[in-house]
Amino acid sequence: MGLLSGKNALIFGVANKDSIAWGITKAFHREGATLGISYALEKLERRVQPLAEELDIDFVERCNANDDTEIDALFAKAKDRFGTVDIMVHAIAYAEREDLDGLFVDTSRKGFSLALETSAYSLVALSQRAAKLMPNGGSIMTLSYYGAEKVMPHYNVMGVAKAALEASVRYLAFDLGPSQIRVNAISAGPIKTLSASGIAGFRRMSAYAADSSPLRTLVTQDDVGNMAVWLGSDWATMVTGETIYIDAGYHALGLHAPVDEL
Ligand code: NAD
Repeated sequence: MGLLSGKNALIFGVANKDSIAWGITKAFHREGATLGISYALEKLERRVQPLAEELDIDFVERCNANDDTEIDALFAKAKDRFGTVDIMVHAIAYAEREDLDGLFVDTSRKGFSLALETSAYSLVALSQRAAKLMPNGGSIMTLSYYGAEKVMPHYNVMGVAKAALEASVRYLAFDLGPSQIRVNAISAGPIKTLSASGIAGFRRMSAYAADSSPLRTLVTQDDVGNMAVWLGSDWATMVTGETIYIDAGYHALGLHAPVDEL
């Protein structure tokens, strides 16, 4: 019996096999959860559908998290299919490429709104609907990054969106706590994915993290999947409103320099 046996989980943000959401999906599958997955755009279907088939997942739905009608349609289908939901994973973020290069001070009004709506408000919108399907309590989790807290070159508006996301986690945890619904963020170290490729200098930043973090390595999608299993399981029943770092210890450092150079 797996750690998530008997639990129904909805996972948003699968784009391809490199997605963190896919790492979480594989870990949830290993631990016996019944799964539904969602992707954003029509053009992603040809990548996501074959992945779902690998794990015999038959609930695979497109949903733009910036569109309330699409969100409502997805949750209506989820209610028909699962009845109740125990776990929801939000692994969604977007900012225009030009806002992930250059200076934060140059962010446009439109770029700021889009990044905040897609990367932070979408958690609120999805949680509103998910909570209605969690009469027995549940676990909601999202993905954040250290750029929410400290300046990371080029992360720019996404850092501001992640700060809003982490604050949203705390407010959602407070509101949904009486319903025994926990809300947490996993703050992952840099992982090579489609989204990450949009951040200027990402490769150098990753190499730097690998060289200077206490564990001297990079985090993988599977590492994040294992943390998500724990957060979704009954072993984490008293954890809510938290941002949990899974970054090989990078956030604990005061001086981020490759130790061998000192
Ligand atoms: P990814 O590109 O595989 O996933 C991002 C997902 O967001 C994609 O599936 C994309 O389709 C989806 N998305 C974008 N706009 C959407 C919308 N309007 N509606 C629905 N879905 C939408 O990349 P990833 O790195 O796996 O990102 C997943 C999450 O992890 C993001 O929140 C990201 O910021 C976060 N994260 C990533 C890293 C990293 O280094 N890769 C580190 C920490 C946190």
